Amino acid sequence: MRQLIWLRSDLRSADNSALHAAMAAGPTLAVYLLSPEQWREHDDAPCKVDFWLRNLAELQQQLARLNVPLLVRSAPHWRDAPAVLLELCRQQQIGAVHFNDEYGLNEQARDRAVSQTLANADIACHGHLDQLLFRPGSLLTKSGGYFQVFSQFRKLCYQRLHSALPPMLGTPGAQAPLPVASDPLPSAVPGFEPPPRSLSELWPAGEDAASARLADFVDERMGWYQQRRDLPGVDGTSQVSAYLAAGVLSPRQCLHAALRNNYGEFESGNPGAVTWINELLWREFYKHILVGYPRVSRHRAFRLETEALPWRQVPDELAAWQQGRTGIPLVDAAMRQLLATGWMHNRLRMVVAMYLTKNLLIDWREGERWFMRHLIDGDLAANNGGWQWSASTGTDAAPYFRIFNPISQSQKFDPDGRFIRRWLPELAHLDDRDIHNPAALGGLFGAANYPQPIVDLSASRARALQAFKSLPKLEAEHV
Ligand SMILES: Cc1cc2nc3c(=O)[nH]c(=O)nc-3n(C[C@H](O)[C@H](O)[C@H](O)COP(=O)(O)OP(=O)(O)OC[C@H]3O[C@@H](n4cnc5c(N)ncnc54)[C@H](O)[C@@H]3O)c2cc1C
Repeated sequence: MRQLIWLRSDLRSADNSALHAAMAAGPTLAVYLLSPEQWREHDDAPCKVDFWLRNLAELQQQLARLNVPLLVRSAPHWRDAPAVLLELCRQQQIGAVHFNDEYGLNEQARDRAVSQTLANADIACHGHLDQLLFRPGSLLTKSGGYFQVFSQFRKLCYQRLHSALPPMLGTPGAQAPLPVASDPLPSAVPGFEPPPRSLSELWPAGEDAASARLADFVDERMGWYQQRRDLPGVDGTSQVSAYLAAGVLSPRQCLHAALRNNYGEFESGNPGAVTWINELLWREFYKHILVGYPRVSRHRAFRLETEALPWRQVPDELAAWQQGRTGIPLVDAAMRQLLATGWMHNRLRMVVAMYLTKNLLIDWREGERWFMRHLIDGDLAANNGGWQWSASTGTDAAPYFRIFNPISQSQKFDPDGRFIRRWLPELAHLDDRDIHNPAALGGLFGAANYPQPIVDLSASRARALQAFKSLPKLEAEHV
C-alpha cells in the first residue's frame, strides 16, 4: 500500500523518523504544503521561508536518489490542509500518511483535523517523535505535571539518557522507482521576498552543509564552547539553530556528534561538550513547556500575574530598538546583526530583550514578534521561552530584580569592542573603553550620526523595578 510522508519542519532524508517508517511500510511519496497565509499569521520571517524553499530543493535531490517523488501542494491556511491532503491521497491511492510531530497549538489542531478527515476516508495517519529527544508527557514531575524548573527537567533527561540513548536512523535505502514525477519547486512565495544574497549565503542549504557545520563545530570549537559561548565577537557557538528549526539537522544527530567527541559522556568530560548538550536540553525544555502550558502558544504570559504590568506604548522607542538606534552600542549592534544576518548571538538576544522589556518597559510580545519576523531560526518555543525568560514573565525566568546593565554586559562580553565595531562602523574609531558608552564623552566623540541614549539606564531600571514590585503576587514570591 502506498505511503505518504508529509514534510514540515523535518527537511532531511537522514535520521528522519517519519520517512523511515513510511519507507519501511511501502512505496512512498513525499509532499510539502505551501501555506503563506498561515506563515504570515505566525510571523514567519521571509529569510526563514527562503531557507525552507532552498532546503526543500536540496531535499528533492536527496529524495530522488531514494526514488521518492516530492510533490508540492498549496494549502494557503492550515485549515485547508485536510481537504488538500485528502484529495492528494485519493489521486495517488495513498493508504497511510506519516508525519513528524510538531508541538504548537495550531500545529496540533491542524494534525488532529487532518487525521480525522483521513480516518473518515479509511486512510491511517501516523505521527512520529523526531523533533525532540523525548516525547512531551514522557518526562513529568513526581506529581505528574510538566517541569517548570530546567535543572529538575535536565536531571530526568540525564537519567533517561543513561538508560537509553535515542538511536539515530541513518538514510533509508532506495525504493523501486514509482511512476510519479516530482513537482517543480517555487524559488519564492509571494509575500515573502527572498533576502539579499549577503544574508542567504551565510546559511547554505542542504543536509551536507548542515552536517559540515555541525562537524566543524564539534571537532574544532566545541572544546572551547564554555569559555567562548558568551562572546559575540568570537565564533564560539555552533550556529546550527536554523538547521535544527527547519529540521535539516535532528537533535539526535547533534547529540550523537557531541557524544562522539566526548567519549560518550553527556554529564561529565569536556565542559564544552557538557555545556553544549545542556543547550540542546534547553531547546527540549521549551518545547515540553509549549505542550504542558498551551497558553504560551497563545502568547500569554506563563506567569499570568505579570499580564498586569503597565507596559508602555511608545512607538518611537520601539522603532529605535528595532532599527538599532537606541544609543546603547551593544544593543544597536545586536539589532543590526539581526537585520543583516537573520540571526543574533544568544547573549545579545538576552541583552536586547532585557533592554526592551525592562529599560523601555515595552511588552515582550512586541519583541517576540519582531524576532519572529526577522530570525532565520525563529521557533515559537525557543523564542517565546527566551522572551519570557528575559521579561521575567516565564517559567524558570530571570528574577525581575536582576536586570542586565547593557553597558556592563558590553564591557564584559565584548571587552575590545570587536563586535560593536563590526556592526557600528560609525563608532569604530573609539577606543576600547569609550566604545561601550560614547554618551559619557558628551558631544565630543565625533560620531554625529550616532544617537544619544533614548532612556537613562538607571532611571529606567528603577521604573521597571517599581512596576514589577507593584505586582502583589510577584512581591510575595520574591521578597
Ligand atoms: C529572547 C530570545 C529569543 C530566542 N529565540 C530563539 C528562536 O527563535 N529560535 C531558536 O532556535 N533559539 C532561540 N533562542 C535561543 C538561542 O539564542 C539560540 O538558539 C542560539 O543563539 C542559536 O545559536 P547557536 O545555534 O549558535 O546556538 P548554540 O549555543 O550552539 O546551541 C546549540 C543549540 O541549542 C539550542 N539552544 C541554545 N540555546 C537555547 C535556548 N536558550 N533556548 C532554546 N534552545 C537553545 C539551539 O537549537 C542551538 O542551535 C532565543 C533566546 C532568547 C534569549
